[in-house]
Amino acid sequence: MVNVYHDKDGNLEDLNGKIIAIIGYGNQGRAQSLNLRDNGLNIIIGNKKDEYRKIAKKDGFDTYSISEIVLISDILFILLPDEIMKDVYKKEIEPNLKEGKTLCFASGYNIAFNLIKPPSNINVIMIAPRMIGRGVRETFLLKKGFFSFICVHQDATRDAKKILLALSKGGGTLMKGGIEIDMKTEAVLDMSTEQMFGPTLGRAMLTYVYTLVDAGYPPEAVLVELYMSGEMSYTFEKMANIGLIKQVDFHSQTSQYGSMSRGIRFRKLPLREKFDKILKELEDGDFVKEWEGKWAKLKFKIIKFFAMKQKISKLEQQARKNLGLREIDIYEEEPPSIDDLKDKEKLMREIKEFQEFYEY
Ligand code: NDP
Repeated sequence: MVNVYHDKDGNLEDLNGKIIAIIGYGNQGRAQSLNLRDNGLNIIIGNKKDEYRKIAKKDGFDTYSISEIVLISDILFILLPDEIMKDVYKKEIEPNLKEGKTLCFASGYNIAFNLIKPPSNINVIMIAPRMIGRGVRETFLLKKGFFSFICVHQDATRDAKKILLALSKGGGTLMKGGIEIDMKTEAVLDMSTEQMFGPTLGRAMLTYVYTLVDAGYPPEAVLVELYMSGEMSYTFEKMANIGLIKQVDFHSQTSQYGSMSRGIRFRKLPLREKFDKILKELEDGDFVKEWEGKWAKLKFKIIKFFAMKQKISKLEQQARKNLGLREIDIYEEEPPSIDDLKDKEKLMREIKEFQEFYEY
């Protein structure tokens, strides 16, 4: 059984006199800053000089450069994109960190995989919302809250748990529940959803669209039927509120019989075997090693180019036009040059696979 914490477990007075810095005023940064400030906490913002910093100023916060804010605050929320966090940490945060400060992360990725290694005299905690930034703010205002995965990773001051629970309460997550799991578990779970569920769902959706369009059904109708109506998001909401299987009662008997009787035909898909392999790559750190490796960013750019050029993008564009929905830009960028990589056989083979996979 995991520990689940609620409002009664956190005490805002444990943060009396503490200056709390939010580094990165983006999706999570803005939502969490506003929630914490509404609960009476002393919040200041550290951000590059850019649009986000202007928004923070407009929202009434004092703003600083990142290196400056590290010097003057007691608690630092590091709410930067995970893939750039280690560089900013190395250059601007680490050199200015003093004993007894608290670093709070919204994802376990950098700590769990040793990309950031804070010194042992610093508290390291995690409050990782299971909610996009907008939802973090909206559910706070509605007094519903949102789930987060929380933990103390390193307790240098012997009161890190109190700080964790007070911050969790201040940010609004304890209204719903703070679930205690360690940072590696959080990171693996997060990436498992992205790497197992995401691609499976995506592939099923594409196969469905192509099956019906190839059989002569109008793309507009097929796409509205599947996801453009937004009906699917209601089904997901009901799964969360009522239960994965229980929510079927919201659908007609014909629908229930059809999906349950046909569902059996998909029982033997080799998903489990593939999921087990992905899980192992995540647990062993192989995925992170690959993503942090030399060629990954280029490979990503190439994969993304092919992925964005799939047939579905054109079908979707046409359908949106006919349905009177706002035009979206398709990915116009030229493919990155891969000439200089000819000697990198493995990478070339993989790219070829992606090219074929995305039917480019
Ligand atoms: P964002 O992409 O919204 O970026 C946050 C901020 O980082 C922005 O202000 C951005 O400014 C700044 N930033 C980007 N690059 C740099 C740089 N090189 N130097 C300095 N500042 C930079 O991040 P998120 O809010 O999405 O993610 C923050 C954390 O929250 C991550 O750990 C993420 O895993 C976690 N999280 C995110 C969720 C989400 O819904 N997005 C959900 C749960 C957790 P600019 O773009 O101008 O550079």
